[in-house]
Amino acid sequence: MRIARPQRQRLLGLLTMAVAPIVAFACQDARDPSSQVVLPAISDPAPVATTAPVPPAATAIVANVSVDDAALDKGVKPCDDFYQFACGGWKKATPIPDDEASWYRSFNVISERNEATLKSILEAFAKGERASEPSAKALGDFYSACMDEEGIEKAGLEPLRAELAKVDAVKDAASLTVALAQLQKAGVDALFAFSSGQDFKDATLVVGQIEQGGLGMPDRDYYLKDDAKKKELRMKYEEYVTHLFVLTGDKPEDATKSAKAVLKIERALAVASMSKEDRREPKKVYHRLDRAGLKAQAPNIGWDAYLTELGVPSVTAINVAQPAFVKAVSGLVKSVSVADWRTYLRFHTIQGFNRQLPSKLVDEQMKFRAAMTGQAKLPPRWKRCVRATDEAMGEALGQAFVKATLGAEGKATVETMIRAIERAMNGNLNKLSWMDDATRARALEKLALISNMVAYPDKWRSYDALKIDRGGFLANTSRADAFEQNRQLAKIGKPVDRLEWLMSPPTVNAYYEPTLNQMVFPAGILQPPFYSNDRGMPANFGSIGMVMGHELTHGFDDGGRQFDAKGNLADWWSPAINTEFEKRASCVEKQFGTYEVPGGDKVNGKLTLGENIADLGGLKLAYAAFKSDSEKTKSESASGFSPEQQFFLGFAQGWCANERDEYQRLMVSTNPHSPPQYRVIGPLSNMPEFAKAFTCKTGDKMVREGASKCEVW
Ligand SMILES: [Zn+2]
Repeated sequence: MRIARPQRQRLLGLLTMAVAPIVAFACQDARDPSSQVVLPAISDPAPVATTAPVPPAATAIVANVSVDDAALDKGVKPCDDFYQFACGGWKKATPIPDDEASWYRSFNVISERNEATLKSILEAFAKGERASEPSAKALGDFYSACMDEEGIEKAGLEPLRAELAKVDAVKDAASLTVALAQLQKAGVDALFAFSSGQDFKDATLVVGQIEQGGLGMPDRDYYLKDDAKKKELRMKYEEYVTHLFVLTGDKPEDATKSAKAVLKIERALAVASMSKEDRREPKKVYHRLDRAGLKAQAPNIGWDAYLTELGVPSVTAINVAQPAFVKAVSGLVKSVSVADWRTYLRFHTIQGFNRQLPSKLVDEQMKFRAAMTGQAKLPPRWKRCVRATDEAMGEALGQAFVKATLGAEGKATVETMIRAIERAMNGNLNKLSWMDDATRARALEKLALISNMVAYPDKWRSYDALKIDRGGFLANTSRADAFEQNRQLAKIGKPVDRLEWLMSPPTVNAYYEPTLNQMVFPAGILQPPFYSNDRGMPANFGSIGMVMGHELTHGFDDGGRQFDAKGNLADWWSPAINTEFEKRASCVEKQFGTYEVPGGDKVNGKLTLGENIADLGGLKLAYAAFKSDSEKTKSESASGFSPEQQFFLGFAQGWCANERDEYQRLMVSTNPHSPPQYRVIGPLSNMPEFAKAFTCKTGDKMVREGASKCEVW
C-alpha cells in the first residue's frame, strides 16, 4: 500500500494513490503491487512462447478467435446494451477469485501468464541456474528472501528496528527534517515526496520535484467526505492503525491514542491536499522555484539539511507541484508536537514495510484492504514476490522476460500497426471540421514528432551497484528503494533521457507521456487476447488497435493538448479553436457524469475526462485504420458476424470484467478511468459506424444523437 513515487506516475494526470487501481491503458503506477488491479491495455502482434506452464485460469479463458461466442449474452440486444451483449455470458460464468478485487477477461489472463513466466525465471535464478544472465544472482536472491516466510516469521520485528531508529531520533524540527529524508529514501511515504521531473516549460531539463503525499488512505475525500460509506471506511482505517500499533508492541490504550494522533495529522494533510481533479491540470501543478523561494514558502522545514541528507545538496531548481500543501506542512511542523510526529512517522514506517513483515501484520493490512476493495484474501506468496521483484529490479527481470516472450519480429509488427494508427490520425486531423489551419498545422507537427517505444528498452538499466542478498527481504527492499531514489535524483540538472522507460517490460499496460510526446507499449501487454496472429485483423484492430489509438489521443486530450510537439507546456491553440475544443470536451464530461455504479455513486466526469476523450478518439482511429485496408475489411465472417461487427466485439470483449461493488466505489473515487462497462457503452453510443454495423436506430439506448452526441477528435 505504499504510495507510488511521483516519477513513476507523473504522466499527467495522475494521481498518487495508495490502493490504486489503474486501469487500462495507461497511466499510473503499474509497478506498485498494490495497484495491480489494472486493466488492460495493449496487445501484441507477436506470438508468445511462454516458458512457464500457463495456469488453468488463463487457458480456460483465452482463445485466439475473433469473437468469443461463449462470452456473449444473446438474450440482450446489441443496440440496448452492447456491453452486456458482448460480455454477459462471460460475466456470468467467471466469478472473481477470492484474492482479487476485480477480474478482467483480457488483462488478468495476460497477467496470469506473465507472472507464471516470471515465476519460472526467478525460480531458476534462485537455484543458481542461468547464472550468466544479467543480474541473475541478485534477482534469485531477492525472490528467495521474499519467499522465505519461515525466516521472516522468525526475525519478527527485528528487521524493522533500523528503520524505526530513524523515527526515534526525532527530537525537534531539525531532526524531524533529517528523519523525513532518510525515511522517504527508504520508500516510506512520509508527508511528501521529493524526486525529479522534467521541467514542464523546458523539455530539455530535469528539475527537483515535490509532490504532496503522506496519507494512508487513497484520497483526501476519504478523510473529508461524510457519506456513510466513507465514514465507515474511516472508522475501519482507525482500527487498522490501532491494531498495527498493538501488533508492534503498544498497549491497547496507548495504541488508541496514537491512532487518533495519526488520523489528526492525516486529516490536516488531506485538507491541504490538492484535489485529484486539479492535479490533472498541468498548469496547476507547475510552480518552479529556486532554493530561496522554497525556504520562503515553507520556512519551518530545514531544506538545506533535508536536501543534503537526500544526497542532492546543491539542487536549486525545484517544481513544487502543490504549494499550498507544502506551506501547510511547514505550519504543521511547528504546531504538531514532536511526540505526535514520531507517532505519525512510526505508523508510516510500519505500514510502508508491512509487506516485508510477519504474517500477523500482513494479515491486518489485508483486512483493511478487504474493506476497501472487497477482495477477500491475499494472492499467493509467489505472486506477491514476483511483483515485489519486478518493482525492485524491473529492467533486470524484464531482460529475462522478453527473451522468453516477444522476439524482434513481434516488435516490428507492432510498430507497423502503430504507424497505421498514426496515418489514421493524420487523415482525421486533415478532415476535422472545427479546426482552423494554424492550429491544424501545429497538431500535425505534434503528430509527426511523436516517438514510440515498443516492447523493451534498447539500452538496459544496470543494477550492479545495488546490494541484494538472502539476508532479509526488508533490508533488500529498503536498499532497492534507496537505489531507485538515487537514480531519480541523479537526473536533476541533466538533460532529459528520452529513452528511459517508466514501466518495466513485463507490465501489462501502456502509456503516453506528454512531456516527451512519446508512446510506450511494454512487451507485457503485447500478447493475446489483445493481439493474435491467429485470428482476423478486424478483432485485432478493435482490441490492440484501439489501445494504440487511445494512447495517441492522449497527446490531444484535455491535459495532453497543452503540451507542444517537443513536450513543452505551451499554448499552441488559437483562442477560437480552444473554445471549440472545450465545448466538445464538456459534452464528454456531461455524458460520463451521468453513469452510476452500484450504491449510486456517479462517475466523475471531470476526473475521467482525459481517459474518456482518449477512448472515444482511440476507437475512431482504430476503426479508420481498419477500414483503410480493403483487404482487412474483406475478412470472412466469424461466428456469423461481419468484419465490422468483429471489430466492435473485439473491442468490447477486451473489457469484459467483473468488479466487486466496494472496488467499483473505490474506483469512481480515485481512478481517472471510467468503469469497464462505460468504457464500452460510452464511446460506442457516440459512433455512427457502430450503429450502422448493428443496424441500431434512433431511439435505441446505444444511439446518442443531436446535442447529446459527443465527438472530440
Ligand atoms: Zn489512458
